[in-house]
Amino acid sequence: MLTTAEARESVLSSMQTFAPEKTPVAAANGRILRQTVRAERDQPPFDRVMMDGIALRFADFEKGVRRFPIQAMQAAGDEALTLQSGECIEIMTGASLPRNSDCIVPVERISVEDGLAVIDEDYSAESGQFIHARASDHAIGSELLTPGERITPLDIAIIASAGLTEIETTRKPVIRVISTGNELVPAGRSIAPHQIRLSNGPAIQAMLDAHGYADGDHEHLVDDLEVLRERIGRHLDAADVVILSGGVSMGKADYVPAVLAELGVNVVFHKVSQRPGKPLWFGTGPQGQAVFALPGNPVSALVCCRHYVIPALDAASGLTMPLPEFASLGADVRFEPDLTCFQPVRVLSNAAGQVLAIPVKTNTSGDFTALSATDGYVELAKEQSFFSAGTPVFLHRW
Ligand code: AMP
Ligand code: MG
Repeated sequence: MLTTAEARESVLSSMQTFAPEKTPVAAANGRILRQTVRAERDQPPFDRVMMDGIALRFADFEKGVRRFPIQAMQAAGDEALTLQSGECIEIMTGASLPRNSDCIVPVERISVEDGLAVIDEDYSAESGQFIHARASDHAIGSELLTPGERITPLDIAIIASAGLTEIETTRKPVIRVISTGNELVPAGRSIAPHQIRLSNGPAIQAMLDAHGYADGDHEHLVDDLEVLRERIGRHLDAADVVILSGGVSMGKADYVPAVLAELGVNVVFHKVSQRPGKPLWFGTGPQGQAVFALPGNPVSALVCCRHYVIPALDAASGLTMPLPEFASLGADVRFEPDLTCFQPVRVLSNAAGQVLAIPVKTNTSGDFTALSATDGYVELAKEQSFFSAGTPVFLHRW
């Protein structure tokens, strides 16, 4: 049986990269950047005035001049004027520095009388003050963004400032989510005492959405070989990624692995030495589609989705993988089986600046209502059975 690390590695190396496509900048937020973004111009593109006030020659101020005839007014967006020596130009924030000037005195430190700007007696100016020098942030052609970033509103500012209206990002993969099980009844339909509400499908769709992969269509299938063959076959033809839940354990109606094999999906692994989620099945379809068959147990399904499916989608989308995150275990945990334990936790930080992962008890392995109070889960090494409070552990946030 594979370890969790081997299973993760095996999934990531089986993924085919999704192609990039041109995306309007208005639709690019949250998508993964697939090109370099370079500066269209120097930033700032000219010596930019940083205060409302007057522009003057520092040499005049240094000689002791404090009264400057106002030669003109120049606002942001106006072409730079040329300053006459001994005079000043009324200037606004964002304007291009007038030629022959090299000092801005803020409006708060002057008074204006009869076309003269008079600087407060106690004011001391410096050469070059309140001037944001051309190219001091970056020069034309500089690399501003690199491929592999998930685009945020802050990046949108950079993309727009580079003059781009569209940009290469990863195309959205086609994802199909399938819940299997005769006992399952979706919300909105009447339900008998021996039946179970279908919750994995909507939860998996929501988790995909939360990670930037919306539009995962969902279908519920009964445990019938004929139906599974027909419907999974159709979904495979249409999808880049198929995510099933249920039907991968050792029960008589657990047909999913056999049906996938019939459909030409090559098994990469079945079972991982972990709890929850041990029965996880993963394979690749005839066109390289990734096929995840998650255990039906709702806690297992969600942990496996977060631990394997989301990183697989991120890797195939060209996302630069995030660095691992660590937390300090907030209480002792004992876990006897020779399996990696994925322990749901609440994440808190204390006044010492430590990140604490507080284990949240679940009633049974299927108690998914307890998950609502959690922020993620920690990964507790297979080789150990007792983990004392304070142990540093891998933290995975939902
Ligand atoms: P299975 O992996 O098919 O043996 O299912 C394991 C357990 O998870 C059973 O109690 C199922 O009823 C339950 N289960 C399977 N699929 C779902 C689902 N989509 N929503 C909620 N519970 C499920
Ligand atoms: Mg089942």
